[in-house]
Amino acid sequence: MDLLNTLVDKGLRRELPTREEALAVLATSDDDLLDVVAAAGKVRRRWFGRRVKLNYLVNLKSGLCPEDCSYCSQRLGSKAGILKYTWLKPEDASKAAAAGVAGGAKRVCLVASGRGPTDRDIDRVSRTIEAIKEQNEDVEVCACLGLLSAGQAERLRAAGADAYNHNLNTSEATYGEITTTHTYADRVDTVQQAQAAGMSACSGLIAGMGESDEDLVDVVFSLRALDPDSVPVNFLIPFEGTPLAKEWNLTPQRALRILAMVRFVCPDVEVRLAGGREVHLRSMQPLALHLANSIFLGDYLTSEGQEGKADLDMIADAGFEVEGAGTTTLPAHRADVAAAEAAGSGCGGGSCGPCGDGGAPAAAAPEAEVTAGVAPEAVAGQEARTDLVAVRRRGAGTDLPPNA
Ligand code: SF4
Repeated sequence: MDLLNTLVDKGLRRELPTREEALAVLATSDDDLLDVVAAAGKVRRRWFGRRVKLNYLVNLKSGLCPEDCSYCSQRLGSKAGILKYTWLKPEDASKAAAAGVAGGAKRVCLVASGRGPTDRDIDRVSRTIEAIKEQNEDVEVCACLGLLSAGQAERLRAAGADAYNHNLNTSEATYGEITTTHTYADRVDTVQQAQAAGMSACSGLIAGMGESDEDLVDVVFSLRALDPDSVPVNFLIPFEGTPLAKEWNLTPQRALRILAMVRFVCPDVEVRLAGGREVHLRSMQPLALHLANSIFLGDYLTSEGQEGKADLDMIADAGFEVEGAGTTTLPAHRADVAAAEAAGSGCGGGSCGPCGDGGAPAAAAPEAEVTAGVAPEAVAGQEARTDLVAVRRRGAGTDLPPNA
């Protein structure tokens, strides 16, 4: 297919596809699915080989959030029966993190519900980061604490945070339909604060919230312009008790097309298969490893993932390997930029980053070429599969051992 050949060539050159090409990937038919996965898989292997990076979530503070993000089980007014607890002590968070590291995780993601941290919260998280790094010197620590205020990113960086996560989630045009208590611009601002402080930016999206293909392409193009080092792709987990509980509109095939589109638009970035993979990809999960080079091990913040051992078996069975602590995740050209930014001499802002506009100039493919041979897709609705959504009852905030 001309479209796929063009996208592979561009991905190998780190060149931005056109919007029409990205939309055409989402519009391919199920008959073409394996060709799409194989094409995006070539780009994935060019930059990341067959390595899979494992990340481990520690929910430092669960529920009780004053914000109203419609997709979130921790939102204001959520009726989801999730665990609710306030800040974990640093030693308990460190113990939870150690379980993930023992399972093979090289990054620990410290997440707290809420609009954003107070300065006291930053003290608390700083102590937690120090406790984790004392136990596991090589582990990467990513903080995800919401909107940052002036000076907080620098304090987290000084405490040893390697990365900061804050997702754009959806397109700017539809952001107000998903959340009313903060804006898309607030989110962009926090990602940029993290980058300016020398932290590796992690920012991604949630698919399956009722958005259009144009919205998905918009948010992924916005992410490329923002130039994060990692892009988590979440698939909505429609929690009972949240406004989006009825949004069961992803198929495994659709989820794979979305991952392929993200890989083509952000070819050399850590694309992370995140929340909702078990729920929406189900038995097709191994195919997603040909697209994403990073996954979460074990459980999510408020829902349970498949057993950690099943994740490791899946990676091995599919012919991939867990990325070791001594391996740099990003390709050398990106890792060099990240190191320069951490040292305060990077270009910042993504304008010259490899996932920004710095590749070879984009050659716009003619519309006819882009759409030739591409069948328009009607996104098939699927039955609610509430049996696949299990509220997390183990690990951080409980007396039960974590899943890792
Ligand atoms: S996504 Fe974060 S800010 Fe939004 S409701 Fe959930 S915990 Fe609160």
